[in-house]
Amino acid sequence: MQENPPSAAVPPPSPDATPMMAQYLEIKAGHPGALLFYRMGDFYELFFDDAAAASEALDIALTKRGKHAGADIPMCGVPVHSHEAYLERLIRKGFKVAVCEQVEDPAEAKKRGAKSVVARAVTRLVTPGTLTEDTLLDARAHNYLAALARTGAEAMLGLAWVDVSTGRFEAMALPPAALAAELARLAPGELLIAEGTDDDAVAQSGAALTELPAARFDSASAERRLKAHLGVAALDAFGAFTRAELGAMGALLGYVELTQVGRMPALSAPRRVASADAMTIDAATRANLELVKTLQGESAGSLLSVIDRTATGAGARELASRLAAPLTDPVSIAARLDAVEWFLDSRDIRRDLRAALKSAPDIARALSRLSLARGGPRDLAAIAGGLAAAHKLASALDAAPPALLPLPDEIAGAASALRGTAAGLKTCLDAALAEELPLMARDGGFIAKGHDAALDETRALRDDARKLIAGLQTKYAGETGIAALKIRHNNVLGYYIEVPPRHGEKLVAPPFSDSYIHRQTMANAMRFTTPELAGLASRIAEAAGRALEIELALFDELAAAVMAEAPALSRAASALAALDVAAALAELAAERRYARPRVDASLAFDIKGGRHPVVEAALARTGEQFVPNDCNLGADDSGAEQGAHRSGDEPDRTQSSSRREAPPQKSIWLLTGPNMAGKSTFLRQNALIAILAQMGSFVPAEEAHIGVVDRLFSRVGAADDLARGRSTFMVEMVETAAILNQAGPRALVILDEIGRGTATWDGLSIAWAAVEHLHEVNRSRALFATHYHELTALTEKLPHLANATMRVKEWQGDVVFLHEVGPGAADRSYGIQVAKLAGLPAPVIARAQAVLAALEKSGEGARSAKLIDDLPLFTVSARPAPVEKTSAVEDELKTVNPDALTPKEALDLIYRLKALTAKDGE
Ligand code: ATP
Repeated sequence: MQENPPSAAVPPPSPDATPMMAQYLEIKAGHPGALLFYRMGDFYELFFDDAAAASEALDIALTKRGKHAGADIPMCGVPVHSHEAYLERLIRKGFKVAVCEQVEDPAEAKKRGAKSVVARAVTRLVTPGTLTEDTLLDARAHNYLAALARTGAEAMLGLAWVDVSTGRFEAMALPPAALAAELARLAPGELLIAEGTDDDAVAQSGAALTELPAARFDSASAERRLKAHLGVAALDAFGAFTRAELGAMGALLGYVELTQVGRMPALSAPRRVASADAMTIDAATRANLELVKTLQGESAGSLLSVIDRTATGAGARELASRLAAPLTDPVSIAARLDAVEWFLDSRDIRRDLRAALKSAPDIARALSRLSLARGGPRDLAAIAGGLAAAHKLASALDAAPPALLPLPDEIAGAASALRGTAAGLKTCLDAALAEELPLMARDGGFIAKGHDAALDETRALRDDARKLIAGLQTKYAGETGIAALKIRHNNVLGYYIEVPPRHGEKLVAPPFSDSYIHRQTMANAMRFTTPELAGLASRIAEAAGRALEIELALFDELAAAVMAEAPALSRAASALAALDVAAALAELAAERRYARPRVDASLAFDIKGGRHPVVEAALARTGEQFVPNDCNLGADDSGAEQGAHRSGDEPDRTQSSSRREAPPQKSIWLLTGPNMAGKSTFLRQNALIAILAQMGSFVPAEEAHIGVVDRLFSRVGAADDLARGRSTFMVEMVETAAILNQAGPRALVILDEIGRGTATWDGLSIAWAAVEHLHEVNRSRALFATHYHELTALTEKLPHLANATMRVKEWQGDVVFLHEVGPGAADRSYGIQVAKLAGLPAPVIARAQAVLAALEKSGEGARSAKLIDDLPLFTVSARPAPVEKTSAVEDELKTVNPDALTPKEALDLIYRLKALTAKDGE
């Protein structure tokens, strides 16, 4: 995301400003960092620099309106009825928008004098991190507003985040070194920082940055604010927050209050998250492993896109959160896996539950809009619909057959959060709401007939008057003798009588002119009214106004009834999301034949028949098979055979583990093999299996036993980071340094080709030293892919290092990739064969082969340079490639179908071929 666009300058006040402009300038001065949407009738208007910025960003016309301080006032506007689409575009471009409404009836203003201006006030500040509208949000992704605080006294930073659209509110204390990884996990839409914060991790976070005065992060006032918000005298029940965490939470609450102009969304009680609860994955590793987005920034092709089978937006958000923060506690992981396994076994319940979820509305987002008085009748219906789904799901779970009981804790907990939740509220909403609902309450017509006697009565009055008007048309046509007379309605005139122009003259003359009052003459019609019609019209307008008033009051009552149940509704929403995720992961396991991993406190990393989930899915689309591979990195003394290992279905093994050669069981594998052989795929698949296992998903493997991984590091692929002034090699070294400095025995490290970006001997030396350091100092479980075959000699010295290689076959000078990992080292790189496959010109391949042969003979250095110099240079010729000649025998054989030949014909054929051979030889 780009940085905030510079805020527009506030024009200076001017003594000759009109009263309206004076009001505008005063309001604008209070919101210098935002574009001011100034409500004027049916438009939001923007003036001065705001107008220039918005007209450019929205590609709308920039006009003028009057003068200020002697100069034209630039202006542009967006219609109120379609303003959300414009808001969306401005927010996506990084702007903030202050929405300023008319807060009194223009008639009231007039009473104060002809020149007085309608009172206006900012009712909302729209920023990237505080959105609630479905049109502005991705239903399947969280939108976090985060705040970062640091105190002088504490070494730890405080990070707090809230999803205003769902109410999720969390905080964490973390060391500065962990900030980049946490921001990468959260990917906040907007980040609040104290003025003057200069931090690389913040700058790289991709969030829209909002600088606030340092005082807003003050922990003492934050504590007061939090206590007031939660209505408690002490915060201990929510966790032992550090001063920095409090500061961050306080800044968040203050900012939410500011942007929502005093209204607070239904936030959940703050939850303290310990950074140790989740596997730490740094930003580069997240990006390289393409967890939620590919390196090209696409969702399709990411791990999330391949595993997401959720039926609801809330489920999708929960799945993404789990993927972003795999757990480190084996007990919690097992609890999630139990739920997935239960749904795997309960196929029918799973199917019914998923079907019910598909039509379940998003309770959390509807609740948040209602709490901010931004909800409409459809949000009330969403709550009712969500509750209906909740009750249905609870009954389905309660009716589980005895063989499937007792329910695993996670499912039982969810069922109890759903069972009978807010049943009274649901009955009340069902009875109150009409079938067809408008988006906004002010459009009326959303309360069902029969729900409120006063409303029904007013509506009957309105409808009777309408019927009377319909009767008037016949009466007037009869009395005037104008058969073409019609009674019509529009928003400007209201009800009116319309006749063709040639009949109009009749009505402006006596006797009709007594009762027919002329209103308008058009090219093809004349329009009139009568006192009787005007009377009926005002009865209708009055009744409609009264009906709307009643409906709006009922809406407020219903919204209040919903808010009274907010905590139970939030719990139900979370329970629905958790069930959706568990059932979706079971669906995935069944569909893709994933197995339940065993995750414990050991240092095991034993994967049997592992597959890369994304590559496997891509190959499946073209009907190709992924070749499974084992990986055993571990001090696994407990044996992988124990415990429940089961897969969704019996895997269709292209290569069963019993047939594969036993892999080395060492904590570091040095993986050699040609380009394109599958090294990167193998490295990544093992990292992804660890992430999937610890997020509580089954994994693409026959079996998996993983001792909890606390940190995942990767150094795979590199690109220039020119914006930060770093070359490819520099990026590679920075990432390698981070790993060697931080990885511990619980970490899983995958390193793809260290030292490739520099001269061979430099690169080899760095790679060599890095392997030794990993082995001796870090002692992490690691996979190290390399083209430096010299490194394979290290296994003689390092007891926990094993050589593994990607198998290939050579066939007629070409290389065939088997995609199998086996013990041992590659003897060659096959780089030239891969270059040939890639289509390098034949003379280049031939020359490269000659150079390689010379190098292999002599080793590196001056002698080989001499040998290469002596090789004849290839010449680029424009000769056409020779046309391959086929023999007459081959041509004849191509026409033969052996199965169709009689013995006699076969004998004849042999004679014929014999004759042709003689001819070919001539
Ligand atoms: P390079 O050194 O050029 O990065 P590599 O050895 O890392 O190459 P990968 O990029 O992992 O090779 O794999 C190349 C392609 O081979 C993949 O895109 C995939 O299509 C295929 N492939 C890799 N592993 C397997 C496998 N186990 N089964 C089937 N196909 C595979």
